[in-house]
Amino acid sequence: MTKAAQVHLYDTTLRDGAQQGGISFSVEDKLKIARKLDELGIHYIEGGWPGSNPKDAEFFRKGRELQLSRAALVAFGSTRRPNIKPGQDANLNALIAAGTRAVCLVGKSWDRQVTLVLETTLEENLAMIAESTEFLKSKGLEVFFDAEHFFDGCKSNPDYAMETLKAADYAGASCIILCDTNGGTLPEEVASMVAAAQKELTASLGIHAHDDGELAVANSLMAVAAGAVQVQGTINGYGERCGNANLCSIIPALELKMGIPCVGAERLKKLAEVSRFVSELANVRPFPRQPYVGTRAFAHKAGLHVSGLNKWEESYQHIDPDAVGNRSGVLVSELSGVSNIIYKARERGLPVPHGDEARRILEQVKLLESRGFQYEEAEASFELLVRRAQPDHRSPFELVDFMVVIEGRRRPAAGGGEMLAEAMVKVKVGDQVIHTASEGDGPVNALDMALRKALTWFYPQVAKVQLVDYKVRILEESAGTESQVRVLIESTDGEHQWRTVGPVY
Ligand SMILES: [Zn+2]
Repeated sequence: MTKAAQVHLYDTTLRDGAQQGGISFSVEDKLKIARKLDELGIHYIEGGWPGSNPKDAEFFRKGRELQLSRAALVAFGSTRRPNIKPGQDANLNALIAAGTRAVCLVGKSWDRQVTLVLETTLEENLAMIAESTEFLKSKGLEVFFDAEHFFDGCKSNPDYAMETLKAADYAGASCIILCDTNGGTLPEEVASMVAAAQKELTASLGIHAHDDGELAVANSLMAVAAGAVQVQGTINGYGERCGNANLCSIIPALELKMGIPCVGAERLKKLAEVSRFVSELANVRPFPRQPYVGTRAFAHKAGLHVSGLNKWEESYQHIDPDAVGNRSGVLVSELSGVSNIIYKARERGLPVPHGDEARRILEQVKLLESRGFQYEEAEASFELLVRRAQPDHRSPFELVDFMVVIEGRRRPAAGGGEMLAEAMVKVKVGDQVIHTASEGDGPVNALDMALRKALTWFYPQVAKVQLVDYKVRILEESAGTESQVRVLIESTDGEHQWRTVGPVY
């Protein structure tokens, strides 16, 4: 096996990635993502399938003005239809019209796919691959050939699968990409089939893996170890079914672990940012536990680990998170040790507790978690605990008592009912006791209004604080409506966002 000296990254987020259910990029989104991928140092950006929809054709029209510094846009399309001349094929003509320097042509390598799905002969499929490649080459284009279902084809009919690669090779394709289209191939199979293909071809090899067996990253790296020099994948592994090979894991593995340059150390630091940027435009919530780039990828919860981390930063981390633009974090919970409390306080710029003070905070965290609080997600509540532990701490206000009256009226004629709520709140600020009342469209709204009335008198900035979101979780599922619940509340003052937690009895 000959390991590649350099690997070219080929991103297909805008084509294969967009095939994930729920993702739909506008042309503007695609242009923004292309710019971002260029900043990251991706070599080829597959913009779409111009023959299949007008949106992708428009992307290529506007893409000409992108002025990318490093990346080349690539248009994607399939080999000509059976029994026609390449020049008569609308799809091939759309590929040329896209105006890119390189194109990616997909063709079939699995004999059963040819006869059952394409419904043509094995010979005609070879002619379709060869003639389409030659036709595009004759127009001055660089041709990459995606050998669809290559690995499955190799198991079914290895001689024929190899013939399809040779057809593209002889016709002048510069890179032949072996595709694990159904995503079920094992890493050792990938390694041996890539090595076998390499012996037969003059073109360089690439890999395009899908994640149906959760092996797309492993398969891509095995292919590179066996000599592949182009890796196709998507940001965050977006793609149909279980997704495509995740470039956010492949890139750092190549750079940091295999010592194969692809984007370089400086651009690698943009990886976490690019991952979040694409998830934002894809409107897919980022996965916190995503390797390398997730917010939890370097978050430590166990006390023992944090204590190690305080002594030696990489004692429980496989890489320095800074290398991929991520950072370490510490979670505070009932599994914490004193080290978590100290680390977290320092990280949040709070007064750092020591000795007995830190131990007291830890005991309180454990006691409150046993009653239903959960500090992991509620860093503002942790901040309150630390501040309250300060010897000179004075509470900005005290809640003396409150009362809420709720009245529900049924209005069958209007198809429902209405709720009226009134709250009375008594708070103490310094030596003053303030008593306020307010109405609201529900008990929470009424209490909120009454408390604001009292507090804004002393703290006008409270007026800006808004509820963003809240989550309620039942603590004892078997207790029905008697059960205790925990509420996680997200608030903002328009500038910052924070989360607090509290149990409700
Ligand atoms: Zn694919």
